[in-house]
Amino acid sequence: MINTLLICGGGGSEHEVSLRTADFIERQLNHVEDIALVRVEMDGNGRLTDSHGRVHQLTQERALRTEDGKTWEVHYVIPSIHGYPGETGDLQSQLELFGIPYYGCGPEASKICFNKITTKLWLSALGIDNTPYQFLCSNEAEEVGKASMALQEWGQVFVKASNQGSSVGCYKVSSAEELEAALQEAFALSPYVLIEKCLKVRELEVATYTYEGELIITPPGEVCAPAGTFYTYEEKYAEGSHAVTHIEAQGLSDAQLGWIREASRRAFIGLQLKDLSRIDFFLTDDGEIYLNEVNTFPGMTSISMFPKMLENAGHDFSRYLTSLIRAAVKERS
Ligand code: ATP
Ligand code: MG
Ligand code: MG
Ligand code: MG
Repeated sequence: MINTLLICGGGGSEHEVSLRTADFIERQLNHVEDIALVRVEMDGNGRLTDSHGRVHQLTQERALRTEDGKTWEVHYVIPSIHGYPGETGDLQSQLELFGIPYYGCGPEASKICFNKITTKLWLSALGIDNTPYQFLCSNEAEEVGKASMALQEWGQVFVKASNQGSSVGCYKVSSAEELEAALQEAFALSPYVLIEKCLKVRELEVATYTYEGELIITPPGEVCAPAGTFYTYEEKYAEGSHAVTHIEAQGLSDAQLGWIREASRRAFIGLQLKDLSRIDFFLTDDGEIYLNEVNTFPGMTSISMFPKMLENAGHDFSRYLTSLIRAAVKERS
């Protein structure tokens, strides 16, 4: 038996979404005969609680220990956490320290990709085009001046807290008043803020993952937010969202498909990603393509693109995950 610990929730703004991703993962592993799955929820202080409210601790002896001292050996961990401390790489650092194999990217790649600014620095270093931006390290007058200039030059901008996901801390801004309010809110969430040129785009997403040792890069899917809005938290997760998704984007040229594929490959290898990622692109009206972001732990709710694209590529999610678990545990022992 492979004792697999599913840690979900976390302390970030995406706690609820993380639980929904965990529901999906649980369904994928429930019926696998050699996997024993235990699920615990992490709160903002790193406390682990099971569904009966019992508190557990993950120990250096690679075990889960309950309050009454009972232990359960842990062979593999699935950090099902969007945002802190999972997608940020902090939990993965601890797992590395304890020597427990786990699903997904390592601490460094996670940290780099979760921060929208370090992502951009890395993409540029790897020679991959990304959206024009300004970087603010404080909400002081001099820095805000840069944002105002950017707004003047670009007409409309996106203000983004650098360390969030699910569109939390993302604001579309068209006026000086909106800019001030958006900066206030973004800086309340993050010490760093990004101002991006607002582009008129099609949004393309690529599932990039390893299956039996091979790097798989799916053709891009597409997400279409309703006109007049963008792909907000509500459009992503709320009941009655009007966003439309296509597992395969239509009408792209071979050259565009090739460019996206190559950029995804270079990002996955260059950033030393592991097991999975969803790499998102913007295609402008002028036919320019930018890499928007690399999600090292993409959403896996019932409407999410990553699992759908994987299945569309002919891969069974349960088999994919099970084979990663078996290989990682075998390598360790
Ligand atoms: P995720 O949930 O995918 O992790 P996120 O919170 O990391 O999202 P982004 O993907 O950077 O945030 O932005 C959220 C959404 O805002 C995008 O999906 C897109 O709809 C819109 N958006 C972001 N940047 C731009 C831009 N420069 N021009 C136009 N639209 C943008
Ligand atoms: Mg993101
Ligand atoms: Mg995200
Ligand atoms: Mg995104």
